[in-house]
Amino acid sequence: MPTLFEKIIAGDLPATVLYRDPRVVAFLDIRPAAPVHILIVPTKPIPTANDIADDDESLIGHMFIVARDLARQQGIAESGYRLVINCNAHGGQEVYHLHVHLLGGRPLGPMAARA
Ligand code: AMP
Repeated sequence: MPTLFEKIIAGDLPATVLYRDPRVVAFLDIRPAAPVHILIVPTKPIPTANDIADDDESLIGHMFIVARDLARQQGIAESGYRLVINCNAHGGQEVYHLHVHLLGGRPLGPMAARA
């Protein structure tokens, strides 16, 4: 079964795509948690951070370069932003296709609640 994000990458599910190249697609999160909430997704379907292969080093770096450029384009580079990758149940991962969340546009508060 293709993941939701594979369907978006294939154009079978609508999304507001802000950037696309052969390795990465970036689109708006459907339930934004901040004024800027963009998902940076590899076209290669890597399920979780645990599944990143040694050979993916340049792809993972590229995702962060794309995130940096999108932060600049969105005008949040100087005010600041957060890049998040959730992994598995304790990480709160909902979609099992690796993605970086780019969040910004307001003060985001503490990274995670302290128990
Ligand atoms: P995660 O919890 O890290 O797996 O994040 C998954 C993210 O995907 C959530 O922030 C969702 O709001 C977002 N999401 C789920 N379905 C869609 C969709 N069809 N288009 C855009 N974003 C989505």
